[in-house]
Parts: sequence; structure tokens; C-alpha cells
Amino acid sequence: MKNVVLLGSTGSIGTSTLRVAEDLPDRIRLVGLAAGTRTKELLAQARRHRPEIVCMAGASDAKDLASGLDGAARVVCGPEGLLELATLPSADIVLIAIVGTAGLQPALAAIRAGKDIAVASKEILVMAGQIVMNEARKHGVRVLAVDSEHSAIFQCLQDRPGDSVRRLWLTASGGPFRTTSAEEFEGITVERALQHPSWVMGPKITIDSATLFNKGLEMIEARWLFDIEMARVSVVVHPQSIVHSMVEFVDGSLLAQLSTPDMCLPIQVALTWPERVESERVQTNLAKLGSLTFEDPDYHRFPSLDLARRAGEVGGTLPAVLNAANEVAVEAFCAGRTKFPGITQTVRKTMNAHTVIDDPTLEQILEADRWARTVAANGAAVPG
Ligand code: NDP
Repeated sequence: MKNVVLLGSTGSIGTSTLRVAEDLPDRIRLVGLAAGTRTKELLAQARRHRPEIVCMAGASDAKDLASGLDGAARVVCGPEGLLELATLPSADIVLIAIVGTAGLQPALAAIRAGKDIAVASKEILVMAGQIVMNEARKHGVRVLAVDSEHSAIFQCLQDRPGDSVRRLWLTASGGPFRTTSAEEFEGITVERALQHPSWVMGPKITIDSATLFNKGLEMIEARWLFDIEMARVSVVVHPQSIVHSMVEFVDGSLLAQLSTPDMCLPIQVALTWPERVESERVQTNLAKLGSLTFEDPDYHRFPSLDLARRAGEVGGTLPAVLNAANEVAVEAFCAGRTKFPGITQTVRKTMNAHTVIDDPTLEQILEADRWARTVAANGAAVPG
């Protein structure tokens, strides 16, 4: 039995995690749940799963939640509350699925409290991969991947050393604009960008999948999770999203992990690791699927990939700047303040304006994040 704290329980990853916990009641016990604003949903989840402690982002939502729970669980709120959940004495593992940067401090707190962490929120490793992985090594805990691509690589690698790897291959569905011509990009609407061909996800990551920034962030995430330089992290477009990623070994062998796309599987792998636990949820019929295809990404239409490679190679504070500028630009696009190509242009301009700090402290990373948000929102934003 694993005692799990789930941060971001009302989101797309959060609700999939609840399904996994319901599939495996003898294996997974949810001892802490945290959400941002959806009080009613968290109340229903807490009544069903009976965690010890629950957290809302805001104090008044927490008050509402407490009155609904009537003493059945301890109720906390805000960043302090998240830290309390992340360090809960009874927790074995903390799954972080909060969109944005709010998961970074809880991730570090959990590691320092000796807990394994399962990371969905890619911002954590993109911004502070070196610090997070160093802390994990120091405290002897595992950083397990929830992202389907990184879970696939983790499953293929099985802890083999970096020198046995020629290359990591992240697969990308290519998003809704894989075959859209460059001329049409100016006219892409938010509604179209939110239509992902193979995955149902939260809005931010869905837009990131349309620009391919999601894949760029994943390249940086892979670099840290698997301790491999950016030059050996590559992307191949695979529209069917059945091969979740691959490892190419030095002898030329390629190992891949395949399944129909369902986030419940990588979540289960992370929460039951190192065991394989029976579940009927995911079924994959290759004969029915017929064919799996692969193609090179188009770096001209999707410049996000080169920007992310540059951020990952330069390192220091630059990945945090890329991440923050992208968040601001996605918000601007969703609010109609910038056009679709403006997202990439905003990120590029913000990165170009940044003076990189090498080997930054956590405070310097957070400062670079704040700086990039201001620059992206004011100076670098490209009008719609
Ligand atoms: P969603 O937008 O669906 O969910 C985000 C969750 O975070 C919600 O539960 C939200 O609560 C919660 N939240 C936001 N701010 C706070 C806060 N300050 N304190 C506590 N909780 C907060 O996002 P996804 O589930 O899609 O993604 C979550 C993370 O996982 C992202 O970093 C994404 O990149 C990553 N990821 C997602 C995948 C997917 O398939 N969806 C795949 C791989 C990675 P509320 O809704 O109540 O406000």
C-alpha cells in the first residue's frame, strides 16, 4: 500500500490519478488532496477518498471546504498548506500535478522530507532541474515521471547508465497543426488550438501541444530526469500517439513503450513502481490500429523546438525564462491579445533580452521567472 499526496487533484492529471486509486484500492491510499479553486469538486473527492488533509489555494474556499467536511479532514490553504501536504508524515510519495510554478517549492519540501515525488508539472524540472535532481540524490529519493513520454523512457531504460544510451527519442503527436501550412498560422483561433487530436488535457498543455512548446519543455525535462545532455535528446513526430517514446542504445537497439493513449497508465506506473500491477483499463489492439507512422518535426513552422533546445543547452536561468515567457504568451493568446505565432515570438524576444545566470540558486531562478513574466507581458508581447 502506498500513501499518496496528490497536488492538483481537480485537474486532468488529478482526476486520472483518482481513477487509478479507485482501480487499485489495495495499493493506493490518497492521504492528502490539494486543489486551486474548484471547492465543490475537492469536497466530493474528499468525501469519497477520506484523506487526512486537504488544501485549497484561497482561504475563503478553504473555509467553505471545511464547513462541508465537518471535521472529516484537516483543511489548510495557500502555499503554506501545500508545504504541509508535501511533508505529511504518513505520505510515501507526493504526486505534483499543479499547472504552473506553484508545485516547485512543495516538490523540494517533499524531497527534503525524504519522500519520493512523481512529477507531472514539467515546470518543476524545466525551471530547477539541476537543483531538484541534486536534492533528490542527496536525500536518496526517486523522482518518478508522470509525463507519458518520460514514463516510457524510464520503463525502457530501467536504470541503465547514461553511457549505454546513444539517444533518447521523445515522440510528439504533432498537435492539431501538424499539416497546417505556415501561411495559415496567423489565423489560428484559440478554439482550434484547443482541439488536440489524441489527448484530453488541461488548457495550458493543450496550447503547448499545438505550438510544440510542450515537446520543447519535455526535452529539457528529459535532460534532467535521465541525466543526459540536450544533444542526445531528439524528437520524432508520431501522429498516432501509441509509441510514447524510445531509447536508442549504443549498440543500435531501440526500445519503445507502446499503449493506447491514457494518462492512467503512466500515473499507475509511477505510483506502483517498482512493481507492475494488474489493471484492465488500458487495452491496445495493434492489428486494429494497423499502422504506426513517424516523421521529422518541421522546425520552420514550430520554432519552439529550437528555442527549447537552446534554453536546455545554455542552461542556467534560461529555461525558467522560456517557461515563464511561454506561460504569459499562452495566456495572452487565450485572451485574444496575441496571435498564435506571437506565442513563439514573445518567448524568443524574452529569451534574447535575458542575461543568463549560470548555476543559479533557487532564488535567482524565481527572480528570472518574475523578470521574464514582466518582460513578456510588457515589452516582448506581440500584439494580436
Ligand atoms: P489542469 O489545468 O487540468 O489542472 C491543474 C490543477 O492544478 C487543478 O487541479 C488546479 O486546481 C490545480 N491548481 C492550480 N493552481 C493551484 C494552486 N496554487 N494550489 C493548488 N492547486 C492548484 O492541468 P493538467 O492536469 O493538464 O496539468 C497539470 C500539470 O501536469 C501541468 O504542468 C502539465 O504540463 C502536466 N502534464 C499534464 C498532462 C495531461 O495529460 N494533462 C500530461 C503530462 C504532464 P483547480 O482546478 O481547482 O483550480
